[in-house]
Amino acid sequence: MRADFGQQMIELVEGDITAQRVDAIVNAANSRLAGGGGVDGAIHRHGGPRIMQETDRLYPDGCPTGSAVVTGAGNLAAKHVIHAVGPFWSGGRRGEAELLASAYRRCLELARENDCASIAFPSLSTGAYRYPIDQAARVALGTVFDHLADAPAVQLVRFVLFSAGPFAAFAAALEELH
Ligand code: ADP
Repeated sequence: MRADFGQQMIELVEGDITAQRVDAIVNAANSRLAGGGGVDGAIHRHGGPRIMQETDRLYPDGCPTGSAVVTGAGNLAAKHVIHAVGPFWSGGRRGEAELLASAYRRCLELARENDCASIAFPSLSTGAYRYPIDQAARVALGTVFDHLADAPAVQLVRFVLFSAGPFAAFAAALEELH
């Protein structure tokens, strides 16, 4: 599913984030950049040890929730991995929506700073971090929509949803937006 916004496009696909051929792949990292399951496990497994070596060297203090940092992409078919730290869901009254939006926003900034024309996101925070998928989809797409114009060189923003449920949630949110 696709939506055109002038020269830029938001695309939703069902699939595996590690298989995407784009300039930047976004990782759903934790604030220690310590490695984990889900998206993070898959990225380090397919990308090889170089990615973790780089995060250890460049970001020994990790990355705060709501922000992101960039490394190379190891063996993945991308130029960069952007390690984004979304919030853990604890009911919605601890600034989760703002933190999630801020993580997506920072990824777009890093994509712009690193001359990326294409970027692939997983659905941040909706696995181990338990953010409700319908709400997460609205925040994710709303934030990207609001900030696309700030990153004019980014032509393609692809959301890679791992299964049919998350895909349907993102499709509904994209329809609302478009
Ligand atoms: P978080 O800790 O931020 O919640 P997770 O990696 O646990 O991150 O999950 C984020 C989302 O990514 C979940 O919806 C999960 O189903 C999905 N996911 C897990 N593995 C992959 C993958 N290889 N590609 C794309 N999405 C994935």
